Amino acid sequence: MMQGPANIKILILDDDTFMLKLLTRMLAKLGYSTVTTCDNGSDALIKIDQADTRPELILLDLNMPDMDGIEFVRYLVDRDYRGKLILVSGEDERMLRTAEKLVQAHKIPLLGYLHKPVDPGKLSEILQKLTVGEVASPISNSKTYSAEDVQAAITNRELVNYYQPKVSVVSGEVIGVETLVRWHHPQDGVVSPNQFIHIAEDNNLIDDLTRLVLTQAVVQAGKWHQEGQTLRVSINVTMDNLTSLDFQDMVVNLVNENNLPPQKIVIEITESQVMGADARVPLEILTRLRLKRFHLSIDDFGTGHSSLAQLRDIPFNELKIDQGFVHRAWEDDTLRAIYDASLAMGKQLGMDIVAEGVEDRNDWELLRQTGCDMAQGNFISEPLLPADLPGWQQVWQQRVQDELKVTAK
Ligand code: C2E
Ligand code: MG
Ligand code: MG
Repeated sequence: MMQGPANIKILILDDDTFMLKLLTRMLAKLGYSTVTTCDNGSDALIKIDQADTRPELILLDLNMPDMDGIEFVRYLVDRDYRGKLILVSGEDERMLRTAEKLVQAHKIPLLGYLHKPVDPGKLSEILQKLTVGEVASPISNSKTYSAEDVQAAITNRELVNYYQPKVSVVSGEVIGVETLVRWHHPQDGVVSPNQFIHIAEDNNLIDDLTRLVLTQAVVQAGKWHQEGQTLRVSINVTMDNLTSLDFQDMVVNLVNENNLPPQKIVIEITESQVMGADARVPLEILTRLRLKRFHLSIDDFGTGHSSLAQLRDIPFNELKIDQGFVHRAWEDDTLRAIYDASLAMGKQLGMDIVAEGVEDRNDWELLRQTGCDMAQGNFISEPLLPADLPGWQQVWQQRVQDELKVTAK
């Protein structure tokens, strides 16, 4: 489908109605005429929820009296918003750049940010990034799946576990792998978990999904173990999985059936979920798993609001710094500050620190210099099928020797 600027659905959200008019006029001059405006977040969310008014680009004001821009972004994440975003604010450069990092941590594609008063030239420049292909492709390709689709995927065992290596920064040794599920869809090919996990969560399917992923992962871990590869296998678990004690029994039984030491299984929970309201039962389950010697990991650290005291209450073994604060932290002071603080906090509590999203040599060097324990990311390896792991391991060992020159300790 061909899309010109006139067809691209744009939403402007700003509490200042004068700004709304001004931006609408600027956009019109640039040929963007399918524009709606909202002066508060709640109205904007209604438009995003309806397929016919769902925008492909949002111009978002950060400072608004009721729901501010950052809070609004959280709701966008919940709704799995797949369009683009431009931030607009009267705040200073530093504030805007911090907001930019937060948005990127949520993996929402950000085209750029605009200072108020908005310069039409800058707006036009940012909109250049919105090439026809770029806008059209994620929308036409990103099918929304129904609860029935996801249910069928689970029943038909179309969910396939991939495993992404976690390596020691000091020695290069492969410490473990993280289980990352993909949907091998008969028509659509490989579908990313971001496209179906939230559907499973919202439709009471997450227990079935987790059971399938976990079973496959523990069986695989058992195989590796038998082959003499004592990899630690991490599994992502949602708070919804932790509302009944059945979960604990299931994990314990699986591990026993497959003759695995519980230390080799790591349960990852994202930070924002852990710190949410009503976490008492889940925290009890986690604590009990910990008592049984399973490892616990706090995922996407830096995107939630944990305090040191909250972290001390839950016996996590591992802290994973979110990829949004790892990649490019070597060159960006704001990212670096969050990275350093997360590393220090985890170390102080005696946790192993894993940096996620290590994408290049510069990222890797920063981890070495700062004493981060483990690295995970495409620089090391993409998520792999079990059959591809041995081949990768050979290449990796060679790379460690030749190129990364880590001295084995
Ligand atoms: P996560 O647990 O934070 O997993 C890391 C994500 O970062 C994975 O995305 C991984 O493919 C991606 N990644 C790894 N290295 C790099 C890198 O160098 N650069 C970049 N840009 N990205 C990298 P993926 O596989 O799409 O998974 C997305 C999220 O879906 C996961 O985030 C996790 O929260 C969730 N998820 C995946 N599998 C499961 C599952 O079985 N159960 C549940 N509940 N959630 C899952
Ligand atoms: Mg994870
Ligand atoms: Mg993560």
